[in-house]
Amino acid sequence: MTSYRARWVLPMSGPPLRDAWVSVSDSRVTNVGTGRAPGPVEDLGDVALLPGLVNAHTHLELSWMAGLVPPAGSMDEWIKTLLRVRRTGPVGGDEATVAAMTRAVGDMLGTGTALVGDISNSLMSVSVFAERQLASVVFHEILGFTSADPGAAVRDAQKRRRVSFSSKKTPDVFSAVVGHAPYSTAPALFAEIAAQHQGPAPLSVHIAESAEEVEFLHTGGGPMRTLLETLGVWTSAWQVPRCGPLEFLKRLGYLKPGTLLVHGVHLTVRELEQARDAEAVIVSCPRSNTWVGGGVPPIARFYGAGVPVAIGTDSLASTDSLNMFDELAALRRLAPEVDAARLLDSATRVGAEALGFGRHYGTIDPGRVASLVSVALPAGVRARPEDVEEYLVSGVSAADVTRLNVPSP
Ligand SMILES: [Zn+2]
Repeated sequence: MTSYRARWVLPMSGPPLRDAWVSVSDSRVTNVGTGRAPGPVEDLGDVALLPGLVNAHTHLELSWMAGLVPPAGSMDEWIKTLLRVRRTGPVGGDEATVAAMTRAVGDMLGTGTALVGDISNSLMSVSVFAERQLASVVFHEILGFTSADPGAAVRDAQKRRRVSFSSKKTPDVFSAVVGHAPYSTAPALFAEIAAQHQGPAPLSVHIAESAEEVEFLHTGGGPMRTLLETLGVWTSAWQVPRCGPLEFLKRLGYLKPGTLLVHGVHLTVRELEQARDAEAVIVSCPRSNTWVGGGVPPIARFYGAGVPVAIGTDSLASTDSLNMFDELAALRRLAPEVDAARLLDSATRVGAEALGFGRHYGTIDPGRVASLVSVALPAGVRARPEDVEEYLVSGVSAADVTRLNVPSP
């Protein structure tokens, strides 16, 4: 057993502890406290010790697109560029894709991320996470504006998912088949995915990411309709739902307890309250929302509605880093009225619970995985807990973040 002593420990299940320690044995936390620490002690000095951060939404397989899809004025434009880049593919093929994914996982680990919710069409990320031992939920996403046989499509996807996991050593990975977004995925597919879904991994969906999506659901027209026509996938058989995106999911049985509503930029207060009542979770990715031209997420409104808020970076096709401290800084800029402690809670405890890993990650408590992150604290912010919390959401430099190298059993 080893105890790590730090100027501040932020367990996230309770208030920050000054001059505190965390004892660790066999890669698990055994105790947390102040005063005399048990066993051999490693003094980390003037740092804040946090549970590893949880990036609840990314697309690791798009990492090779870093720098290739510029910020856009509207979502349909960004999608068009993304599809064009994807058709060309990476120079170096699959090998280059995997190399970019491996680098991205290295960056996530290096900036304090301990658990990831990853959207994967190809399932290529499964082995990358397994190799680098990064805990994750891999969401095998399927899409298709029309589907001749939704039951078979979802059964096939479930089979691919099971095969891909059975051959890998994946101690800390959950997975689920999920749909993409209301404008890209047939209603019958959503319904079938929801019907075949079983935990512990939740459902996930991109929702209310742009005003164009909301317009499309209400009227069947607008830029999203034009995009579908341009791509040659529009069908007049699609019934215009004439409702908002949340109601759309609800009708299809997709709004379940735990469903991750990714983005939610254009959800109304009433929809957010309905999401809360349905025990769904918002996953906010503010830097991506602006990049893709989707708009500015109403962060304070999310918290005000009482719906749990988790945080994701989204992919390197729509943001310039997978560093959760950068994402926290974006949330802080957009919502100065939300307590820093709540933002940190979102990036740790809420994210872990949202991904079904609440018993293992997200807090520093006895029995949790000792995936600890230490952040060097400058002299001016060490005295008061609220200053420490504020500093941690101010855009901490990657150079000041260290993952604690806790020995494996
Ligand atoms: Zn996404």
